[in-house]
Amino acid sequence: MVLETEAAVKKEAGVDKKSDEEYRQQLTELEYVVLREGGTERPFTGEFVEHFESGMYACKACGAELFSSDSKFDHGCGWPAFTEPVGKKTIQYVRDSSHGMERIEVRCAACESHLGHVFNDGPMPLQTRYCINSVALDFSDGESA
Ligand SMILES: [Zn+2]
Repeated sequence: MVLETEAAVKKEAGVDKKSDEEYRQQLTELEYVVLREGGTERPFTGEFVEHFESGMYACKACGAELFSSDSKFDHGCGWPAFTEPVGKKTIQYVRDSSHGMERIEVRCAACESHLGHVFNDGPMPLQTRYCINSVALDFSDGESA
């Protein structure tokens, strides 16, 4: 039974794995650079920076739900900011030493696409600030969120 479950989990995870070619077709050039190459959109250019409607933000690459509008706040940094993801296993954390900084990169756990970084200067009590690229996200409004 355990083996069956593991196989099912692996199969489930495999659904979200797409080829590079599929990503190139599915995503715009900027989305591809951010999600698949770890790029960053220019500050204050993303469509969700000043966006505070009620709903759910999902991964642009695979559709996994990542952040609820309940956790979104205005940090004034030019990118969408969230205090926490919707689930502990929705996010993958990777140490990032690029650009002469020690940061923690945030990726979608389902498809390993780059989303942004997490910092510890967010509002109390969590103090975490997930700084996420707008182009990495898809928004769907919903009252049930
Ligand atoms: Zn994803």
